[in-house]
Amino acid sequence: MILKAAEFAATKHRGQFRKGNLNTPYINHPIKVANLLENVGVKDVEVLVAALLHDVVEDTNTTYSDIRNVFNQRVADFVLEVTDDKEKSKKERKALQIQNAKGLSYEAKLIRIADKICNVQDISGKDAPDWSYERKFEYLEWAKKVVDEIKGTHDVLEVLFYDEHRWGRLKI
Ligand code: ZN
Repeated sequence: MILKAAEFAATKHRGQFRKGNLNTPYINHPIKVANLLENVGVKDVEVLVAALLHDVVEDTNTTYSDIRNVFNQRVADFVLEVTDDKEKSKKERKALQIQNAKGLSYEAKLIRIADKICNVQDISGKDAPDWSYERKFEYLEWAKKVVDEIKGTHDVLEVLFYDEHRWGRLKI
């Protein structure tokens, strides 16, 4: 199921790239998020599968029903929980992530924190996108607000997040 999700996500994200200097294929990001979750001891296969698929509804033509049909309802529900509503403005979507964080399922919270760790790493790492200091700073502070809302979910992930955040603040 994990390999099937990797193939599915790779096909859906075909032609998309991460922001940054190295033209990293987009699929590297969900793989990194799923890998991180596995590394911190998450054994629930459907959470790892949802991590691989976490951006396909938001960023490709994939729908909730596609995921439910190809995988299952539980996986589709996790993906939906971490999908922003693209009908809303960027500002609204950012505010909603903070507002809705507490109400996420435990599993969606794990994906949410792992996603933020990977994004903060990418923003402050050597392949950082060509963003202004202000934009990077704003992203870091917003990501922290989201994770602050779901503190108490997973000790190791939270330690990793706050470490990355601190390093990010120094490196950007
Ligand atoms: Zn993501």
